[in-house]
Amino acid sequence: MSVHVIGAGVAGLAAACQLTEAGHHVVLFEAAKTAGGRARSHYDNVLGCRIDNGNHLLLSGNIATLAYLQRIGAKRSLTGPAEPIFPFHDLRTGKSWTLRLNQGGFPWWIFSRRRRVPGTRLHHYLGLLKIRRAKPSDLVAPLLAGTGPLYPQLLELLAVSALNTSPQVAAAAALRSVFAESLDLGGYATIPRYARAGLSETFVDPALNWLRERGAEIRLGERVSELNPAQATILAVPPWAAAELVPGLTVPNEFESIYNLHFKYSLPPGEAGFWGFIGGMTEWVFAHSSVVSVTISAASRYADMSAEDIAAKVWSEIASAFSLPPEIPVYRAVWEKRATMQATPAQMARRPKTRTSNPNLMLAGDWTDTGLPATIEGAIRSGNAAAQALMSNLNS
Ligand SMILES: Cc1cc2nc3c(=O)[nH]c(=O)nc-3n(C[C@H](O)[C@H](O)[C@H](O)COP(=O)(O)OP(=O)(O)OC[C@H]3O[C@@H](n4cnc5c(N)ncnc54)[C@H](O)[C@@H]3O)c2cc1C
Repeated sequence: MSVHVIGAGVAGLAAACQLTEAGHHVVLFEAAKTAGGRARSHYDNVLGCRIDNGNHLLLSGNIATLAYLQRIGAKRSLTGPAEPIFPFHDLRTGKSWTLRLNQGGFPWWIFSRRRRVPGTRLHHYLGLLKIRRAKPSDLVAPLLAGTGPLYPQLLELLAVSALNTSPQVAAAAALRSVFAESLDLGGYATIPRYARAGLSETFVDPALNWLRERGAEIRLGERVSELNPAQATILAVPPWAAAELVPGLTVPNEFESIYNLHFKYSLPPGEAGFWGFIGGMTEWVFAHSSVVSVTISAASRYADMSAEDIAAKVWSEIASAFSLPPEIPVYRAVWEKRATMQATPAQMARRPKTRTSNPNLMLAGDWTDTGLPATIEGAIRSGNAAAQALMSNLNS
């Protein structure tokens, strides 16, 4: 029997692969002409090269993602440093430093003054333990108030990037789930990973090839406007599209944007290929072969600024950090207005489970109740869970 998967973002692709591997015939519908959804690459005429819609940072603890890439033969398309290291530049002090975690589960690095975040003391790290007891209503910034300079020097950036929501209003429980699968496990689960050539080359194209080789039918440019309740279906579309197709479904309905700037400039990649920036507008800088790509999360706070002003500010920060010429190189700005759901307690409570009242219909997507914030790892887990749930219903 055929199973329909609607939406070819990573959630839908993961579900389609899981079903195909189990011997089901999959028909994958995607409204856009290309697959990948919010994690995709395209050729940019201004820059004269391929770029991603935005930098995506993953961690070695993202086990569902690594298993997905292994399955589609794309594990080697991820790259990054061999060690759990995170280089930072503080725009307020002009100083650069590198966070070097130790591989094992016990955080020896916080006992070494040389390895700690500059200006922090051991007791600031103990303040982090509060996050383990976070209640659903707790917010990140107030809960981490006891972490002293560790907050502005590191935690604020980690929180806003992981949750794509201001830490003032973001749910601490969402950050806890990220830490539980990375920092809490140790450096071996916290090694940074990102796409070597591009998001499509890593997450999308190998999956489409893998599916086609195994007989799946891929229908790009086909928007599904109605569901057949008798058809086994995984709905892996964004929440606003799911709400239109499933009347009465409660979904997250407040979103945050992510702003990405791609400058045509070759920057030596340094130790890790990327840097975190503290104390400015720039948050993460990735040195690709001919492009420097910058990510700014929770970017709605800059909605009143023009693209020119944002580019000027960001380039001035990068130029000061790396002693580069002040002239702004040719650039492309990509503002993803609905990049992810807001990770506030109220929005987290609106995430639906995989199963619906119809045993033929399962939900997938980074916005479903994955236990993680809206990330690639969450999306892939949701696709796997939807495929498993549907198969158990089909077999019963
Ligand atoms: C700029 C940016 C940076 C990010 N950075 C990171 C990061 O560093 N790390 C990380 O882990 N995550 C990051 N994310 C989040 C990550 O990209 C998403 O969590 C993930 O891609 C969501 O996948 P998905 O399959 O759930 O949804 P989507 O990618 O939105 O896929 C849904 C698909 O459904 C299709 N569709 C919609 N309606 C229909 C219809 N009626 N019929 C058929 N198809 C339909 C859409 O076209 C789309 O392709 C980032 C996101 C953005 C935008």
